[in-house]
Amino acid sequence: MRCLLTSGLCLLALLASTPSWALDPARKVEEYTLARWTMEDGLPHNLVHALSQDADGYLWAGTWEGAARFDGRRFTQYDAGTVQGMEIEGVRAITPHPQGGMVLSLGRVGPGLVRFHQGRWQRLPGPAGTLPDVSVLRFGPDGMLWIGTDHSLFRLDRDGRLHDVGSAHARLANERVLAILPLSDGQVLVGNRHGLFRITQGRAIDWGRGVGLPGTSVLAIQRSRWGGILVGGSGGAWRIEQGRAQQITGTRAEAMLEDRNGNLWISTLDGLRRYGQGRYETLGERHGLMGRLAPALFEDRDGLLWVGTTNGLFRISDGPVFGLGRSNGLRDIYVRAIIERPDQGIWIGHPMGVDAWENGRSRAVSLAFDGKPDPSVLSMANARDGGLWVGTYDQGVIHLPAAADNPQALPWRIDEARGLPSNHVRALLERADGSLWIGGNEGLSVYREGRIVRHYSAADGLPDGNVYVLYETGEGRLWIGTSNGMAMMQRDGSLRAWTPDSGFPAVAAFDFLADPDGSLWIATDRGLLHWRDGRFMQFDHRQGLPNNRLFRLLEDDNGDFWASSNRGVFRISRPALTAVENHHLARLPVEAFTHADGLPSSQANGASAPAGWRMRDGKLWFATANGIGVIDPDDARRQRAQGVTLVMESVEADGRVLPLQPRHELAADTRRVVIRFTGLNQRAPERLRYRYRMVGFDRDWIETDNGITHAAVYTNLPPGQLRFEVQVMNAPADWSKQDTVVTQAVAFDKAAPWWLRAWAMVAYALLLALAGWAILLLAMRRQRRRQRRLEALVEARTSELSDKNAQLERASEAHAHLLEQLAYQAGHDPLTRLANRRAGDAFLAEALEASRREGRPLCVALLDIDHFKSVNDRYGHAFGDDVLSQVAAQAQRLAGAQEGVLIARYGGEEFLVCQQLPWTVARARLETLREGIAQASIDAPDGSALRCTVSIGMAELQPGQDLRDLLREADERLYRAKERGRDRLVSN
Ligand code: GH3
Ligand code: MG
Ligand code: MG
Repeated sequence: MRCLLTSGLCLLALLASTPSWALDPARKVEEYTLARWTMEDGLPHNLVHALSQDADGYLWAGTWEGAARFDGRRFTQYDAGTVQGMEIEGVRAITPHPQGGMVLSLGRVGPGLVRFHQGRWQRLPGPAGTLPDVSVLRFGPDGMLWIGTDHSLFRLDRDGRLHDVGSAHARLANERVLAILPLSDGQVLVGNRHGLFRITQGRAIDWGRGVGLPGTSVLAIQRSRWGGILVGGSGGAWRIEQGRAQQITGTRAEAMLEDRNGNLWISTLDGLRRYGQGRYETLGERHGLMGRLAPALFEDRDGLLWVGTTNGLFRISDGPVFGLGRSNGLRDIYVRAIIERPDQGIWIGHPMGVDAWENGRSRAVSLAFDGKPDPSVLSMANARDGGLWVGTYDQGVIHLPAAADNPQALPWRIDEARGLPSNHVRALLERADGSLWIGGNEGLSVYREGRIVRHYSAADGLPDGNVYVLYETGEGRLWIGTSNGMAMMQRDGSLRAWTPDSGFPAVAAFDFLADPDGSLWIATDRGLLHWRDGRFMQFDHRQGLPNNRLFRLLEDDNGDFWASSNRGVFRISRPALTAVENHHLARLPVEAFTHADGLPSSQANGASAPAGWRMRDGKLWFATANGIGVIDPDDARRQRAQGVTLVMESVEADGRVLPLQPRHELAADTRRVVIRFTGLNQRAPERLRYRYRMVGFDRDWIETDNGITHAAVYTNLPPGQLRFEVQVMNAPADWSKQDTVVTQAVAFDKAAPWWLRAWAMVAYALLLALAGWAILLLAMRRQRRRQRRLEALVEARTSELSDKNAQLERASEAHAHLLEQLAYQAGHDPLTRLANRRAGDAFLAEALEASRREGRPLCVALLDIDHFKSVNDRYGHAFGDDVLSQVAAQAQRLAGAQEGVLIARYGGEEFLVCQQLPWTVARARLETLREGIAQASIDAPDGSALRCTVSIGMAELQPGQDLRDLLREADERLYRAKERGRDRLVSN
């Protein structure tokens, strides 16, 4: 018990100490994934002699036609054609140089040892640089290089001196060295066709014979992690421990390697054997490891095994995916249905029937009875009685009883003979009430208690197509996927269908998966649908799905989805689905697992159910066209987090390769800069995704096309400080996960052209200042000119304005004057300047009012010049006017200048005299007036003195009399004055 516990602890300690990425020793060798590369992929030759890995992580392969460096996807070939001045061919040995780079042996054309370091090829100095026929190279812990050739053993000291160690020893001289193992104490073990020798202080001891090694050539020597030395050769393989050789196998060991888990791998004629716990398994041609195995057998730092053969380079890995097929005992690899049965293992349906998988092996189960052969199987379902329902291509449904209950129990059939509409059955589901629901190309049938009790077809509202899948969710809902839409049947039997014509965004529905929130996920030929609240959300290639036709939909323990397709199996992150659904994310980070990852075929099978199964151990099994694809989701998750090395491969400036250094000076006229980089993840190189940017030039990161491009090209870099950054991570690329992103950078300092140098800048600044000053001066001058112009303008406008003002004033004066004139003219006679008739009438009207109101007297008189016509006639009209004026002036002077008196010209040579005076006064004044005129003499144009007389008719306003009557009275009296001889006043 104690012993068991101790060894258990040991095992635990061992597991903890081993890197997580070694080949899983618990797996069968055929569960590993094999990948192969040949000349078609860029290998210089299909026979790989030597394999090694450099410090960056590149794998190196040596072949007849040169060497190649491999980043996991691409080979960089080094041969006579690609390396100038060096015939790189016949490369039989490659080893990393302790000071960096790789040392390679060259063949016959230009023999010797060369070193590739920091992108340059150089022969080793001294005679080693031309040493011919080198087959083995090993650096010792002391930095010495041990060299095995076809003729002897050499030691190359660190000072470059080459010592021929072998010639001095009879069993080593003129013998091809086959294997070397330098030991820590400066000793070295050497193998050749005579056996195993130990070189101690220049002496060779036949160590093999000493430890009991039988006569054998020694092809491989290795230190074992379990202690001791492992030796392989023509006679087998041995472990030498405590001075004694113990045989492991008697089969010829071409090459030998103990991996980091302590498993021993031996290349034999029938394949590669893995020894562990005293047993061995062989990986051979039937697993795809083809060709004769060469001595090249190498474990890289990720724990991957690389095998050189006559047929190319092989990689053995244990990715998260592996395939099960014929080699595991499956009778047919076109797998249609997979199901795990409680305590009865895993059952696999295919065209040859069913196979049961138990304890890592497949076992055929016969379904042949009643004279019918094994059927082609399309579907399976667990039966509640512990048995298995099997849906077939043309034999209906077969019930296979649980063998444990009663080994004698016999299978029986539900087929057309028992009322099934069709023997073609693609989907099966046994429900809680014991009924079996059978889906096929004729719709959906219900079998209960020995008979078909119900059948649903298009007539019942079912979509018109083959039933592919049946799925029951809570509340007793049955979901039916068909080749032409889908349907849901409630517990009460009511059917609701969605077809391409009625709102179903796909055609075929291949699988359903209920979500805990009550919604439903549907795998269709148009991507993944999410049915929620009666609506479909569609995820397809637009959201980053590599293929739209999804068959089987499984959920892993982490809640992520896995969907099989014709392009492999996709892992779809659940949080990402939610994020896309909520528009927080545009694309789904989908991880595709394909043939390259170990899936037996990228072409999965669907339209049969269940086309995959989540096993109780968490692994997902998918039906494919070439066997079963088994995926370990935990492994897949771990692989994604696996580290990556990122290497700057080269920096070129205008075609010239620059030495590898963190900073480069670039000339001002550098036009084209190419930076090559590669991520190294030998396990899954196709998962690498890159992005890069030139800080100081690129605004954003540039993502390369699915990791295919490994170079950034810049043709127009600006001068100044630039920094190229490149990042790599495993797909799906989520650059926000900085802990899994690896970054490399290289800095550039691009010189500025002369017109951008410092002195030019100073000159520009000066010029600029000068120009600025000139512009300032000019502007000031212009400003001043403008100022002057403005002032002049203001002056002109101001004087204009004052002129206008004066004019206006004058105009207003004139206007006032005019108004005055008009007012005057309106009331005056222009010739005599007396009041005119209108003014006279107005005065009369007012005087009448005054007389009526205040009793003021009013006397009116009409005065007419006597014989005036004759004045006109004798002296002309103009003189007549003069006379009229003079008489008027006289009248005004004599009678008019008094308050209440008005003299107006009443028309022609007739005047009106109004006097608001008593009768007597008025009459006297009129008499005075008449006399005054009569006595005045006027100078006539002929020199004579002219005397004018006037006749006057006078009347006084009587109470109640109107003006008309008053004037008529005055006129009558004037008339009488004329009659009576003129020059007189008539007043009654
Ligand atoms: P009597 O003594 O009967 O009044 O004779 P008379 O010639 O004065 O009267 P009559 O009515 O026959 O003629 C009036 C004349 O006065 C006629 C006309 O030519 C003249 N006369 C009227 N108005 C003017 C005027 O404004 N200027 C001039 N030069 N003559 C005028
Ligand atoms: Mg008259
Ligand atoms: Mg007259």
